[in-house]
Amino acid sequence: SATLGILGGGQLAQMLALAAVPLGVRVVVLEPDPLAPAQVCAEHLLAPYNDPAGLARLAECDAVTLEFENVSVEALSWLAGRVPLRPAGELLHLSKHRTREKEALRRAGAATAPFVSIESESDLEGALEKVGGRGVLKTSELGYDGKGQVRVSTAAELLPAWNALGRRACVLEGWVEFAREVSLGVARNAQGQLAYGGLIENIHVSGVLRRSLYLPGDTARAAPEPQARRLARSVAENWELEGLLTLEFFELPSGKLIVNEVAPRVHNSGHLTQDGGGLSQFEAQVRAALNWPLQDFAPKLPCVMVNILGWPEGQEPDWQAILKLEGTRLHLYGKAHQPGRKLGHVNLVAREPAELLEKLAVLETLIPQ
Ligand code: ATP
Ligand code: MG
Ligand code: MG
Repeated sequence: SATLGILGGGQLAQMLALAAVPLGVRVVVLEPDPLAPAQVCAEHLLAPYNDPAGLARLAECDAVTLEFENVSVEALSWLAGRVPLRPAGELLHLSKHRTREKEALRRAGAATAPFVSIESESDLEGALEKVGGRGVLKTSELGYDGKGQVRVSTAAELLPAWNALGRRACVLEGWVEFAREVSLGVARNAQGQLAYGGLIENIHVSGVLRRSLYLPGDTARAAPEPQARRLARSVAENWELEGLLTLEFFELPSGKLIVNEVAPRVHNSGHLTQDGGGLSQFEAQVRAALNWPLQDFAPKLPCVMVNILGWPEGQEPDWQAILKLEGTRLHLYGKAHQPGRKLGHVNLVAREPAELLEKLAVLETLIPQ
């Protein structure tokens, strides 16, 4: 039986570990938080991500993967010399930095929003015009859930925005008037075998994913899927992916896809694969990391995922009603409540799209926010 190491012990590691169990794969996570979600189902190395003893234990595994890409270069290269690290350090180096990522996406043939790299105050000069007069300034590193971003609609707002972000290395992106946001996962093993997830439609509220929807057989919604797969394949092969990678796209009104960003791992928008009747994205990452055979991981049934965020006073989800609604599956991560924090999600599955959308309307009323 195989052992898989994971850098990070949050909810993604928890769900990777849960997917590993039926495959007979033991999971070891390196994670400094004693209450981290993955500790309920994995061997927990309670130490910082760069802890020598923790890394040494991970190096004894058959392969190491991650749920969290902001690990130090030193730790990654130490691991890479001793154990198959999937995805590899070079790919992580790209994907943890927005400017490097966009440049590498373009080299792989994928379009991105126009952007200007901001490293000093003089880079702000004329930058907004270069990206089309309206944009969003994002820290190059460490941002997630829309944190570390400021929208900018006039040149005068640019310097205050950069100051508000601590004058750190940033990227100024042109504002994209997208028709939809969609995402697609791709897995590739060390033999070069590829597998894809479905094209999932995402709704964000205040920069945070609220809902992801997948309707197999809806030809209008799936129209950009072949394009998304081509781009995913091109990025996966160009970056020599070993593991799983998720691309977030903006779909333009013309139907053209441009890449917003990538995550070198399973993604919140793919959580509906747990209950949609196909292989889950978590099993796909486990298999890819171990260089096992892959299968596509698109859901077989219409399904939707609704995130559960820490609620404001008096707006707790109606748990009993959620559990009673036919077709729902509740996934809670065991994290302490904090307003706005991702605490879990509900997957809803139905036989027919119309039935799914009807039940979704009910589910939305049970999860306020
Ligand atoms: P996460 O990693 O959690 O997905 P993040 O902090 O990396 O989030 P982004 O994906 O860059 O953030 O942005 C969050 C959301 O903000 C996007 O999904 C989109 O809805 C909106 N957004 C970001 N950049 C742009 C842009 N250039 N034009 C229009 N909308 C944007
Ligand atoms: Mg991101
Ligand atoms: Mg994003």
